[in-house]
Parts: sequence; C-alpha cells; structure tokens
Amino acid sequence: MIAATHSNHPLAGVSPGANLSPAAIGSARLREHGLRITKPRIALIEALARQPGPVPIEQLHHAVRPEACDLVTVYRCLSAFEEIGLVRRSFLYNGTSLYELVLGAAPKHYHLICKVCSRTDRVDYFPIEGVERVLRERGYTQLSHLVEFFGVCPACQKMGPPVREIAPPSLDR
Ligand SMILES: [Zn+2]
Repeated sequence: MIAATHSNHPLAGVSPGANLSPAAIGSARLREHGLRITKPRIALIEALARQPGPVPIEQLHHAVRPEACDLVTVYRCLSAFEEIGLVRRSFLYNGTSLYELVLGAAPKHYHLICKVCSRTDRVDYFPIEGVERVLRERGYTQLSHLVEFFGVCPACQKMGPPVREIAPPSLDR
C-alpha cells in the first residue's frame, strides 16, 4: 500500500480550525442530508478514515470487524455515503470498486491504478474544473464525473516484460 502523506489525508481540505474527528464530521454530513447516525455508519467512517488511500469493500468490511457489521450493511452504507459525497468511488482495471472518504471539499485529484499490482497512485492535476464550471453556469447541479487512469507502475516494469492487454474476443469462427 502507498504510505499516507499529509496531503493524502482524508481531512485535507477541511476548513481550518475544524479540529473534529472524522466521525464527528461524518455525523454532521449524515445529519445535514437527513440520514440516520447509526453505529455501523460511524464504524465505517472511522474505518475509512484509517485507510491510506482508496480501498475495496472487502478491506473495509475487515476493518470494521466483520462480526460487528455484515457485508450487505457495509455495501448499503457506502452507497448512501457515495450519494451524499461522503465517499468517492474509483475503479480498478478489472472493475472492482474502491472507496475513499471525502470529509472536506470534493477532492481535486485523480487516481492512477497499476494494471499489474493494483496499487493506486495520485495525480494532483485537475483540469476538469473548467468543464464543471461551464456546466454549473448552464444550470446543472450535483455534477459528478468518472475518470480513471490505468498503467503499469515503475516497480512492476522492473519485475519483467510488460503485461499483454486482455485480447478482445476472437471474431473469426
Ligand atoms: Zn504495479
């Protein structure tokens, strides 16, 4: 896993002076959107806050202690969180969802995911802001977009020859 850095912390972007725990900020966001504050939801927010980057649902389920909260509950919580912008979802090359806590302003970075080892990296370059501004000026609200980058990381390149792309289904028969 990548190491957590200061700028990578889920609290990055929270207004200065707000010295609140992730659970407190998350609870406020839930309340603001009329969602109930439940034990599993708080446990999940705390588990998300402990992750060094975007993680798959199984890892979160493990982090909240499987006996405290079943996988379906984790899935439902995450989907509710995603709807109110409390988590951002990204995708692995194989389509697996990864979840990341967003406590402050919407993150202005993208993920780059290695096709070989699935490690995620960040790209702090966000040229899409202009597009969002244009759409907002046109009257659109609740804008969202999906952009994922995939590649082979330098470490994996050193391990051997580059991976072959999965071949499309053959059409000659
Ligand atoms: Zn890699």
